[in-house]
Amino acid sequence: MRPASCEYCQQPDTRYVTIDHLFGIISCDAHYDWALRDCRAYMHLNGIVLLRDAKKVDILSALIEELIAKNTLFHIKRTSGVIETDWSVVDEAYDYPSLQKLDDKWSVHVTNTKVRKFVPLEEFILYGDLSAEAVNAATDILDKGVYIDEYEKQMLLAVEANHVTEVACVGTGIMTNGSLVRILSPR
Ligand SMILES: [Zn+2]
Repeated sequence: MRPASCEYCQQPDTRYVTIDHLFGIISCDAHYDWALRDCRAYMHLNGIVLLRDAKKVDILSALIEELIAKNTLFHIKRTSGVIETDWSVVDEAYDYPSLQKLDDKWSVHVTNTKVRKFVPLEEFILYGDLSAEAVNAATDILDKGVYIDEYEKQMLLAVEANHVTEVACVGTGIMTNGSLVRILSPR
């Protein structure tokens, strides 16, 4: 069982940082920065970028703004092969990541309000919705890592002596404030 308390000091929670829908770290006010750092380090490792963070990076924000300006106009190829234009970028109103590296391709999360899917950035070049230059520049930045600073801070904190052994139902290898912790998953 996991009480709704700060992951770092177990005080009753007041805040949380989310990465995805109902997925993130609960913290108290004092440890909010730690929660933010650890969530961002996780996103660095797993190739995830939130829209609000992408918008703070020059070249990424230009690419995102260009796509958002073309909401319901850019071209999306459905699995059936049909090309549709009633799609939009999944924005901050949704509690989901907007950019993710899937099958080694940085992809954009889009929705037609009924279905959501990730579309590789390179597909937007095919239909002239983004230029190859814009996609290449954005991909370089995404590969370097929007959250590289937080990832490096977490790595500096890593305590190698804090070794945990594998036990059924216990998740290990979860990095919390530089220490490996165990989490018990209900069966
Ligand atoms: Zn705390």
